[in-house]
Amino acid sequence: MLYRGSCHCGSVRFQFDADTITSGLRCNCSLCVRKGATMSSFVLAPDELSIDISGDCLSTYEFGSDVAQHHFCNRCGIYPFHQTLRKPGHYRINLGCIHGLDAADLPFEVFDGASL
Ligand SMILES: [Zn+2]
Repeated sequence: MLYRGSCHCGSVRFQFDADTITSGLRCNCSLCVRKGATMSSFVLAPDELSIDISGDCLSTYEFGSDVAQHHFCNRCGIYPFHQTLRKPGHYRINLGCIHGLDAADLPFEVFDGASL
C-alpha cells in the first residue's frame, strides 16, 4: 500500500509503497537510544522512496564511521528517515512520521547497534 509521511512541520514529506506495516525496529546505539523512534524493519532503495523537501530544511548528522546518514528537519528537529549503516544508501523510515499509522502501538524488535 502507499504510505505517506512527513516531519512535524511538514517541510520534509515522503511517500513509498510497501507491504502493510505490522511491526517495527528499534536500535540501542548511542544515537537511536536518544531518539527513541520506532523505525521500519525494512529498508527502501533510493528509487523506492519519494522525498519532497521545502528549501534546505533537511540536514544530516553523521558520527562514527560516517557511513550512516541521519537526516533531520532543521526547522522542527524531527528525524523522518536515515540511510543505513548496514545497507549504505538505503533508507529506514521513522514509523512515527507516517500518516495514519499508530507507530506507538506496533511490536518491535531491537537491533543491537550498540555492539557494532
Ligand atoms: Zn520539519
